[in-house]
Amino acid sequence: MKEIEILSGAFEKIKAYITDNQNNSKPVVQFRSPAQLKEVINFTVGEKGVSENEFLELLDKYLEYSVKTGNKQFLNQLYSGFNFPAFIGEVFTVLANTSMYTYEVAPVATTIETEMISLMNSYAGYSDGDGIFVSGGSNANLVAMFSARNRILPESRFEGYDRNQKLVAFVNEQAHYSFETAANVLGIGAKNVVKVKSDKNGKLIPAELELEITNAIKRGEKPFFVAATCATTLLGAYDPIDEMAEICKKYNIWLHADGSFGGSIILSEKHRHLMKGIEQTDSFAWNPHKLMNIPLICSALLVKKRGTLQHNITDINTDYIFHDIDTIEDLGKKSIQCGRKVDAVKLWFAWKYFGLEGYQKRIDNLIDMATYAEKIINEQSKLELLSERQSFAVCFRYVPDKESDLNKFNLELRESLRKSGKSIVNYGYIGKTLAIRLITANGELQKSDIDLFFSNVLSEAKKLDN
Ligand SMILES: *Cc1c(COP(=O)(O)O)cnc(C)c1O
Repeated sequence: MKEIEILSGAFEKIKAYITDNQNNSKPVVQFRSPAQLKEVINFTVGEKGVSENEFLELLDKYLEYSVKTGNKQFLNQLYSGFNFPAFIGEVFTVLANTSMYTYEVAPVATTIETEMISLMNSYAGYSDGDGIFVSGGSNANLVAMFSARNRILPESRFEGYDRNQKLVAFVNEQAHYSFETAANVLGIGAKNVVKVKSDKNGKLIPAELELEITNAIKRGEKPFFVAATCATTLLGAYDPIDEMAEICKKYNIWLHADGSFGGSIILSEKHRHLMKGIEQTDSFAWNPHKLMNIPLICSALLVKKRGTLQHNITDINTDYIFHDIDTIEDLGKKSIQCGRKVDAVKLWFAWKYFGLEGYQKRIDNLIDMATYAEKIINEQSKLELLSERQSFAVCFRYVPDKESDLNKFNLELRESLRKSGKSIVNYGYIGKTLAIRLITANGELQKSDIDLFFSNVLSEAKKLDN
């Protein structure tokens, strides 16, 4: 049978790819411009289907020109790495192709998602919590803000949001952009997300938060939502949750923790103090697809109070889908999606495989690797650490001998490194200073990978600095 032959061909390619992930001498990417890419891959769909061989060749090309995010020199995004048990879990999820709305159609997956939410809630300290897997951290932030709006203005679920109510939200000035999108989607308006000042390490300043809240009240506005960012995207800073919780209690405001990047630190005995006070928040966005290395998408929104998510949903009198005949809750009643991909099962396979202790070690290792990178920067005279390391992000630059425009030089450095295919790393601006941002997200990183990264940086920099 043709399909079975394609399958065994594909299987060989998967094996080779996984083996290459561990090989640092393989390029992270074979960079091609959009035009060049069209020369090497025929993207057009033809009248007739392709042959078996052509199909296999397309599989090859897809992998060949995609970025190898499982390669340990992929240090670019807030996610990376190849998680073997989670990969298998994903493949089996797709194989079974179930949708998460009812127990009837997804009995095992529903039970697994319920188990994962309960495990994650136990880390968050939500003793009567609930939660749902969503399509990413941005979406988790949206649903959190949606829940906060529906708590303070329950009628808005039916009547629509009355802008005279002047709802206003508060986030760290370095918070993720998805809060503005959320305010936009909810009719609150992106302008009504107030950016609160942070300190030099990127942490929100509690006194500034309180000042902004009282100013808003004086203007006749209604503060309803505050987000603590648990690891900011550039500096990896953790906002002081417990101090923010005090303020939110005082003014009766929903407190959300955006742990989309660094929420997984809660697994680490040693480092979870960075999220001290998490049990006092009303909701928590946790993205296992970042630091737990689960294939995208794997993202949960946890809520402190059971019933919160059902309260959001206003149109579940759809008898044709929810029959409520099984003794377990149909998860579709808590989601703004109808058909929903099974994202909890791959997490469950990975967690089963590594165990609670194994995952804790993986997270600890990420901090160890970031600490190691920071040490190398401090010891190497050509490298300058640009901000004190907070967690998994290390921001630095190269100081050249000849070029005096350091931003220009470091931008070129990161571009030439990326195009060389040796290592990929991202950059951002701290004030006006361009910073190369190294992220340790791959749980299997070792010191030798970090060494190789810096040796690649230094050799590219020397080429440019002459
Ligand atoms: C990545 C990230 C998000 C968005 O999560 P997605 O899963 O990419 O939608 C939100 N907030 C922070 C702090 C993040 O790092």
